[in-house]
Amino acid sequence: MATSQPPDDVFNQSPPFEDVNLYAGDRALQRALAREGGGSDEAALHAFGALTGSAEAQDLGRLANEHPPLLKTHDAKGHRLDRVEFHPAYHAIMQASTQAGVHALGDEPCPHVARAAKLYLAIQMEAGHVCPLTMTNAALPVLFRMGSDGEAWITKARTPGYDPRHLPLQDKRAVTLGMGMTEKQGGTDVRANITRAEPAGARRPGRQYTVVGHKWFMSAPMSDAFLILAQAPGGLTCFLMPRILEDGRANALHFQRLKAKLGNRSNASSEVEFAGAHAIAIGDEGEGTKVIIDMVTETRLDCAVASAGLMRSALAHAIHHAHHRRVFQNVLIHQPLMMHVLADLALDVEAAVALSFRLARSFDGSSDLDIAWKRIMTPVVKYWTCKTAPALVAEAMECLGGNGYVEEQPLARIYREVPVNSIWEGSGNVMALDVVRALRRQSDSAALVVADLAGRAKAEPRLHAAAMALQTLLADTARHEQNARALTEDLAVLAAAILLAQSAPPAIAEAFISARLADRRCAFYGSRITSGDCAAILSEAAPQNTLT
Ligand SMILES: Cc1cc2nc3c(=O)[nH]c(=O)nc-3n(C[C@H](O)[C@H](O)[C@H](O)COP(=O)(O)OP(=O)(O)OC[C@H]3O[C@@H](n4cnc5c(N)ncnc54)[C@H](O)[C@@H]3O)c2cc1C
Repeated sequence: MATSQPPDDVFNQSPPFEDVNLYAGDRALQRALAREGGGSDEAALHAFGALTGSAEAQDLGRLANEHPPLLKTHDAKGHRLDRVEFHPAYHAIMQASTQAGVHALGDEPCPHVARAAKLYLAIQMEAGHVCPLTMTNAALPVLFRMGSDGEAWITKARTPGYDPRHLPLQDKRAVTLGMGMTEKQGGTDVRANITRAEPAGARRPGRQYTVVGHKWFMSAPMSDAFLILAQAPGGLTCFLMPRILEDGRANALHFQRLKAKLGNRSNASSEVEFAGAHAIAIGDEGEGTKVIIDMVTETRLDCAVASAGLMRSALAHAIHHAHHRRVFQNVLIHQPLMMHVLADLALDVEAAVALSFRLARSFDGSSDLDIAWKRIMTPVVKYWTCKTAPALVAEAMECLGGNGYVEEQPLARIYREVPVNSIWEGSGNVMALDVVRALRRQSDSAALVVADLAGRAKAEPRLHAAAMALQTLLADTARHEQNARALTEDLAVLAAAILLAQSAPPAIAEAFISARLADRRCAFYGSRITSGDCAAILSEAAPQNTLT
């Protein structure tokens, strides 16, 4: 009689991918830090890598997403509350990441690169909480414009640790900041903002205003203050809007709803009305876009780094699983086709890490090339990493088979998370058009970046050919807008190939150059179509019953 397997005897399942040091186990990250700097405090990186990869931290990440934030607009007696309640796991994760300094540049050499490494690790612990950390750091360059008015905010925004209490600035140990730009009728096009700001009382250097209007998306609504845009008499202007006033009263921010989102569930994203909220102007009236762009540029770097981190996490889970799972009597990782899939994924992770950390260095540098890289390559790298991530995570999820699709594994959560990086802080088209704008308006910077890439490409015939092809595309200025995605993608892939040729192991560099430049088979939507009647195709494809 055959002995049957007891049903509780589980075998041929991969062990959990936890209690792993996410820094120590990541050679791509270590290579990027060696190349770009920012790894001076190795002991801290090791410690944070161990913390973020610990079973305990990973479980906190799960809990913070399974118990999403809840908005309490009023108390039991009808008084406004405007509070969001978070699960204790969220607060614990915030404490861990703010203690490590993910929320503000430190004083170490290459601070943007050093912080990028922490952010890249923090997002592998839990993605949603990175939103307020990104916004707090990104607000700093704008707060510096306020002179002495901004000093206390800057000091407390840079303080390690987390203080979620609902108190005025002077009573807080540490603060976080958010951002409110997007309105119902326009997000990308902030000039369409209709929220109004009127000077409060006599106009004086204190620059107090009263704001009436709304924001359609305002994430991390329990931040201590927000940088917002509103129409002042002199035009669109940037304001600092505290949530709690100096006297301890709540400012007039009335939260209407929290968004029900595809992913990013541990993070609250609110709809808010300003019912005569108090705010302080930063910069001159009419200069709002110019002022807040410093914040937006920093957040775009974070989107790229965050996408690279999530890609790394997905790849690591996939490789780990393939190491342990046998299918048809053979361990998956040794099966040639699975090996090819995983290796192909690894190429893009290596490229995403290389590009985003090179971009971070350009934020730290002051050479002409660094300044040009920051301007030209921020939208390029944000576009490419954020666009690569969803397809890559889907493939990595598939490597885990059915388990990948189940919520108890983090892959499903990562999959729901990744598209947001491409949408917020400038969606794909907006990034590609920003590259075109930079080519036109900052043509010297663009020329410097392209000449540098071409110079580095010279020695390798396939890199050289790609640089020549890019220059041909760039020369066709009349078609820059329609070719915007192709241009952006080509810049990203060439820059990545050059970085990998410079510092990745030859197997990776060689495979990336062959697969992504020489025998190119895949591209993103928008760059595959090089000829044809787009209007006719769209007219055929559009949902006919919605056309007027
Ligand atoms: C989870 C989440 C949290 C958010 N949190 C915040 C927040 O805290 N603060 C905040 O201010 N905003 C926030 N946002 C809003 C977000 O930044 C915007 O949704 C985003 O910038 C896009 O703007 P939009 O929604 O108005 O889309 P639109 O601007 O209407 O864009 C729609 C599409 O059109 C494309 N497009 C735009 N212009 C052109 C063009 N000229 N040519 C071709 N295509 C074009 C875009 O790429 C996009 O694909 C959040 C969004 C999400 C999803």
